[in-house]
Amino acid sequence: MRKKIVAGNWKMNTDYAEGISLFSEIVNIVRDEKKGDQLAIICAPFIHLNSLSKLGGDVVKIGAQNCHQKESGAFTGEISAKMIKSIGCEYVIVGHSERRQYFAESDALLADKTNIALANGLTPIFCIGETLDERNNGNFFEILKGQLENGLFHLSPEDFAKVVIAYEPVWAIGTGLTATAAQAQEVHEFIRAEVAGKYGEAAAEETSILYGGSCTPKNAPELFAQKDIDGGLIGGASLKSRDFADIVKTFN
Ligand code: PGA
Repeated sequence: MRKKIVAGNWKMNTDYAEGISLFSEIVNIVRDEKKGDQLAIICAPFIHLNSLSKLGGDVVKIGAQNCHQKESGAFTGEISAKMIKSIGCEYVIVGHSERRQYFAESDALLADKTNIALANGLTPIFCIGETLDERNNGNFFEILKGQLENGLFHLSPEDFAKVVIAYEPVWAIGTGLTATAAQAQEVHEFIRAEVAGKYGEAAAEETSILYGGSCTPKNAPELFAQKDIDGGLIGGASLKSRDFADIVKTFN
């Protein structure tokens, strides 16, 4: 059985005190109300992570939102995968569309980031997704296939087995325009088939594929009920403890 996962992505929100307080609220509600074996993760700003890793215990895991592609060195202002791992963090988002768009992160760079994350014992949450133009042009399956092939499919089967994939249509992120459950399921099924083509059916069955893009407590039940959707990557709604916990509880 593949893992069910609800991961929050706080992006560049919350100062330190706000982050500690929001995370504590989330941990308390999730501890009291989560019934299943679904995994809850919060991907917070770097400066919060050390403190959060001491607060969440096994109830809510911690992730970073990015890492540098090199092990260490003269890269002023950057944070390495080794640093992230060293404070007890287990996950890192790689290839979020905001990184691809605003920081010009290419598939080749993201392949390097995935490698360094895995080499340091972090689980990459690897994001792919098409823009509105790409969806309207009808070539989005090609785009998604390219993102998978160029960012992930160089991995050995052993390393690939450690990766979580997140499908986030760019047009649905922060817009309130969620993909319909059918649209999301269609893409998730496609992703799983691509994984099966590369790594085999058994590996594809074990791969957790999350949906992201305006996911809320209201639409999560229908999305998560789809057979190839294994949870969500939650932006805006992860900044509200009640909403995030309610999305986690979708799997109760
Ligand atoms: P959203 O963001 O839930 O606010 O649309 C999702 C994401 O960017 O991960």
